[in-house]
Amino acid sequence: MLTPEVDGDDAVGVNDARQARDPLRTDVLIVGGGLAGAALSHHLAKNGVETLLIERFDLNTQASGSNSGSIHAQIPNEPFTTHGEAWTRTFAPTVKLMMRSIELWATLGAELGVDLEVDQPGGLVCAFNEADLAGLRLKLRIEREQGLEGHLLSRSELRAIAPYVTERAIGGVHYPIEGKANPLIAAPAFARAAARLGARIMTRTALIGLTVRQGGFDIATTSGTIHALRVINCAGAEAGQLARMVGLDLPIEAYPIQTSVTEPTAPLIGHLLYAAGEKLSLKQNRLGNILIGGGWDARLDGQGRPVADMASLVGNLKVALGVVPELGSVDVVRTWAAIVNGTADWKPLLGEAPRTPGFFLCFFPWMGFTAGPVVARAIGDLVLGRQPEVDLGPFLISNR
Ligand SMILES: Cc1cc2nc3c(=O)[nH]c(=O)nc-3n(C[C@H](O)[C@H](O)[C@H](O)COP(=O)(O)OP(=O)(O)OC[C@H]3O[C@@H](n4cnc5c(N)ncnc54)[C@H](O)[C@@H]3O)c2cc1C
Repeated sequence: MLTPEVDGDDAVGVNDARQARDPLRTDVLIVGGGLAGAALSHHLAKNGVETLLIERFDLNTQASGSNSGSIHAQIPNEPFTTHGEAWTRTFAPTVKLMMRSIELWATLGAELGVDLEVDQPGGLVCAFNEADLAGLRLKLRIEREQGLEGHLLSRSELRAIAPYVTERAIGGVHYPIEGKANPLIAAPAFARAAARLGARIMTRTALIGLTVRQGGFDIATTSGTIHALRVINCAGAEAGQLARMVGLDLPIEAYPIQTSVTEPTAPLIGHLLYAAGEKLSLKQNRLGNILIGGGWDARLDGQGRPVADMASLVGNLKVALGVVPELGSVDVVRTWAAIVNGTADWKPLLGEAPRTPGFFLCFFPWMGFTAGPVVARAIGDLVLGRQPEVDLGPFLISNR
């Protein structure tokens, strides 16, 4: 009953724990079936650790399967503009995490045996005035201190590599390693690979209570009680509620945001495109659809579900058209909203709870699609008692 059933190559096996008479036991319980949870399940299974992942809905139905698929390395433009240089310097160490994650993305498809549609045409930030350019220069200097490669472009250099960008742009910065992957494919691919290695996965199973006991945890779920020696909180936007069950009060927030997609069109946008000081991410997928995002607010309906906001859509399209005028001839066919896991200072929250040994948090806000592979591996290494390959020091919840 507890062995994963992998149905052909597409389905992730789900154990019907509801029929189990005895409470379930596991070494590591992973809560949350988004990218973080699925990637952790895979990393631990690969290293011979017994895991059980529970997901209250189906796998990849929240942020990890609803995002825009951008693979970022740079410090994001919007908080850089609004929070200023002091914030930028404290945020800067995350650039190293993102860079390492992008290296992992480049080979993940081969490891998981799935084409994750990873493309790295480079990211391009456009500047429209001298103040933008001065800001981009400062940001690039801070990013280079973290080892990120980026190139300042003059107006003519920008036009040479991105003729589709408006002539109003006076220059920009090119980050060669940035790009995109397909969010619909990534987390399920990790989950399938984990299940093949013996990891157990239970969907439609919500954690509703957690008691710390000697040497482990009793977890109340909608499918019965689970006993676990260790717990990893990968609950995304809900991670704060779960952390509070062990007395951890963390500044985790949930924001509804939206992304739009156009009809397929001939190749137009060759990069992951941003605009200095604006909320914008623009890219074209392999089918020719253009994804238009940048973290614009969506709203909640009367039942608390995220729904698209028309004013944000208009604002987002206006910025996009200002950067790529040719977009005016392409129809937007869909806008969707989802909840993103956030923190006001944009910094990740990672590691073992200081006063609850065995309770781990794997939480990367706003850009957790990019960072999923690296943070899952790092938290998995902590669980394995290994030194993570990346420096988690600035982000450890034990250091806060
Ligand atoms: C519209 C949008 C666009 C975005 N664009 C990008 C982008 O281009 N690039 C980028 O890097 N990032 C982007 N992000 C952010 C990124 O998607 C998230 O940071 C990342 O997916 C978080 O992954 P996660 O696994 O931690 O959380 P999630 O994918 O949200 O997974 C958490 C899971 O935990 C489950 N869960 C919660 N509570 C419980 C419980 N009590 N019991 C059981 N299960 C529970 C949830 O149902 C959920 O499935 C975007 C996000 C959104 C919403």
